Amino acid sequence: MFDLSQLHTFGLSAKARNLVHWRDDSRLLIDRDEPHYILAGGSNTVFVDDFDGTLICVEGQGVSVTETDTDYVVTAQAGENWHDLVCALLAKGIDGLENLALIPGTVGAAPIQNIGAYGRELSEFCQSVDVRDKFTGEELQLTRRECQFGYRDSFFKRPEGQNLLVRSVTLALPKTWRPELSYGALTDLSKDCTAQQICEAVINIRSAKLPDPEKIGNAGSFFKNPVIEADHYDKLLADFPAMPGHPLSDGRIKVPAAFLIDKLGYKGYEREGIGCHASQPLVLFNTGEGSGQALLNMAREIRDAVYKRFAIQLHNEVRLVGRTGLVEL
Ligand SMILES: Cc1cc2nc3c(=O)[nH]c(=O)nc-3n(C[C@H](O)[C@H](O)[C@H](O)COP(=O)(O)OP(=O)(O)OC[C@H]3O[C@@H](n4cnc5c(N)ncnc54)[C@H](O)[C@@H]3O)c2cc1C
Repeated sequence: MFDLSQLHTFGLSAKARNLVHWRDDSRLLIDRDEPHYILAGGSNTVFVDDFDGTLICVEGQGVSVTETDTDYVVTAQAGENWHDLVCALLAKGIDGLENLALIPGTVGAAPIQNIGAYGRELSEFCQSVDVRDKFTGEELQLTRRECQFGYRDSFFKRPEGQNLLVRSVTLALPKTWRPELSYGALTDLSKDCTAQQICEAVINIRSAKLPDPEKIGNAGSFFKNPVIEADHYDKLLADFPAMPGHPLSDGRIKVPAAFLIDKLGYKGYEREGIGCHASQPLVLFNTGEGSGQALLNMAREIRDAVYKRFAIQLHNEVRLVGRTGLVEL
């Protein structure tokens, strides 16, 4: 049995029956009958039970950069650390990823939920993703369009996409750089600021706002921000005039789940070793005494309370892994 407490940032104690390391040069084929889970940095994964199957731990390093007239084209292997890549590119004068600084985890996991922060998403820069079918070994390349990126969503979350191991991600970063300063505290920066300054601001904001998984076990935002119909939002505004809402291009409204959870009084609440963070209630954390069952109980209670009060269905952003695979809340 392999101890998983150090292999996922939530830090719950759990074990796996089998664990293999996978680099792009290793010819790994998975038996369809064997329960398995691809694990990289473990910052969007919570093991809520012992895992009776094989964990495929993603490794593999390497970054290459080429140029076209308009773009820097960067290919990074799946096991590269995302934040290190952002910093290394900025140090080379290749700008664009600065708003996505300090997101924990690996390059290979970045397209799975289309990582995003401070007004930018991976999908804006992703040119293609090289993958391998873990059952047949077939290798192919998916274009950005084929990745079907959405808000914290992609083709890789669909049943067909779950056959695929990400080998590497290719990004196209335009040589003509434009800052994205429309989000939160970044609006305070000067329009003439550099990408490096944005990166530093993002690091400062994130460090002040989000609990450091090295110090307190967590997996970032536990729930996705829900998207609701405009008339539903208008009705809720009558009761909650301060409710923020971000209009989407299809007319629907994205609502911060943190606002809803805060309104129900869960901010700062702790029970059975699981807490709802006092400065960012979207983050659930492990005091060190938590268990998978206690986390599921708290998360389900919050989800149900939000539905009862606001008629809004919350969905978990983190992947919850139980005895034989993914668990639904
Ligand atoms: C403090 C904190 C802050 C965070 N902030 C943000 C944020 O601002 N924005 C954001 O989008 N996310 C955020 N996250 C979530 C997390 O950082 C991202 O989802 C990240 O991409 C996860 O990377 P990982 O390597 O740790 O993935 P893991 O948790 O190991 O895996 C995540 C998913 O990707 C799959 N996977 C991983 N590697 C591969 C591969 N090579 N091929 C196929 N599938 C693969 C796994 O099976 C799993 O389904 C945050 C997390 C924490 C702890």
